[in-house]
Amino acid sequence: MLEPPHFRGYQPYGTSSKGQPPVELLYEEYEALKWADYFGMSHHEACRNMGISRSTFARIYEHARRKIARALVETREITTSPGNAAFDEDWYECRDCHARFTLRHVRRKENCPSCESNDLESITK
Ligand SMILES: [Zn+2]
Repeated sequence: MLEPPHFRGYQPYGTSSKGQPPVELLYEEYEALKWADYFGMSHHEACRNMGISRSTFARIYEHARRKIARALVETREITTSPGNAAFDEDWYECRDCHARFTLRHVRRKENCPSCESNDLESITK
């Protein structure tokens, strides 16, 4: 199952360097890293999982690795943003507490499962 990252971004700490623009990691780049490096799938399996061609997967995966490496080496924040990934379900982010969830996780209709706010934003299309 394809899911967007469950966070908005990462920040380095213990550093004096500031002012560098963040690295923007697209959802599909996060997905590529997750399948290939976290779950240890072959690129053949990973691209099938994501429903994309092997060459598209290879390009996305390469971008993802370069971005993560740049963030680490250049002490940059990482932000995540929707790219072109297609997800199995609609995902929402709470504008108040920034929790991310699908409607499966919602107990009361149209409220954040974490803080009960009804100020929700769709993060997948
Ligand atoms: Zn919330």
